[in-house]
Amino acid sequence: MKEFTELTLPRFLKYVSFCTTSDRHVEATPSTCGQWDLANYLKDELVGLGIQNAEITDHCYVIARLPAKQGFENAPTVGFLAHLDTSSEVSGKNVKAIIEENYNGALIKLGALSLDPLTSPDLAKQKGRTIVHTDGATLLGADDKAGIAAIMGAVEFLLKHPEIARGEVEIIFTPDEETGKGLPFFPMEKIKARACYTLDGGPLGELESECFNAWSAKVRFTGKSMHLGDARGKMANAALMAATFAVTLPRTESPEATDGYYGYYCPLEISGDVENAELEVFIRDFDKQGAEKRVAALELFARAVEAQFPGGKAAVDAKVQYLNMKEKINEKPEVLEKLRQAFINTGVEIRQKPIRGGTDGARLSEMGIPTPNIFTGGRNFHSRLEWLSVPEMAAASRLTVELIRLWAEGV
Ligand SMILES: [Zn+2]
Repeated sequence: MKEFTELTLPRFLKYVSFCTTSDRHVEATPSTCGQWDLANYLKDELVGLGIQNAEITDHCYVIARLPAKQGFENAPTVGFLAHLDTSSEVSGKNVKAIIEENYNGALIKLGALSLDPLTSPDLAKQKGRTIVHTDGATLLGADDKAGIAAIMGAVEFLLKHPEIARGEVEIIFTPDEETGKGLPFFPMEKIKARACYTLDGGPLGELESECFNAWSAKVRFTGKSMHLGDARGKMANAALMAATFAVTLPRTESPEATDGYYGYYCPLEISGDVENAELEVFIRDFDKQGAEKRVAALELFARAVEAQFPGGKAAVDAKVQYLNMKEKINEKPEVLEKLRQAFINTGVEIRQKPIRGGTDGARLSEMGIPTPNIFTGGRNFHSRLEWLSVPEMAAASRLTVELIRLWAEGV
């Protein structure tokens, strides 16, 4: 394990020194220049390791291929992904990564904030291990630089240990994962792998192969305006229709009332006046039929609102955002079978859980490449309290190597 720590920790500390905060208000991909800087650094690093084919696409995707070991050229190409950007929710500039070697299990002060092992059993478990946290002024960037470090560490490990079986390994670092804007530019034509894994999860053992089916619906209300003094029995107020529609959505099926496998409706944005109003509603459900049922229910709610506002109209326009990756992953069972075996072989207990959101892996699965997600050892993503368990990042790197070996040997 020491070797994997040495191959990942210095890299991680270097990567978090790049400010790669993405910006969802920018239309271009990548949305920020800092992502280019990290992409260029990684490309140079890959070339430095002897992977001459490393390249960066027009939209800042880093793609490189570690060649197969002699005799394993026919093994399937397997891809590993991590994202370059960090969330814009908290600053990622001038990150001061603080290494806590042999953590003593006490409360950790981060400026005005603190990490408390009494309220976080997960942190308490790290006693005696090495963790990395911030000074409380920024996020850490373990999401997803711990994923990048784990992949790069695995690549160097394989180069140092040519005796380990490996097929061709594809390394893919993507921009703008946090904004969701990167994937439309995903260079599918360059990707050879037909099975991929994202390293973008949290605690040791985390394995994610299911996510929501996601729909976004725009409900447009058309009212009938009248002079307010003469409105009795004539006016239909579109603003009030939108508000009525929003409160018609069942509160027991909202994000704040659900967890685990429960789906929900979420009114996200509302705007308008007496004549025209619009309400955006997100629908989430792990079950596709469940999501479709909710979409159909929006039509019923629309009719119910119309009935309360004679003369007013409500029209629902719903679109799929992404689908549960489970179906695509199940079509190719060996993707999960090999992953489970790699967990077992490296002694990591599997903690499978559904993702209440989407990932690049979900979109990639939809595009035909099944892509489950694996832990990186990071916690408290998108916050100043973000921290990383170094042995867990090392374990992710080791698991990557084992997974590559299993694919090569066809076991
Ligand atoms: Zn992430």
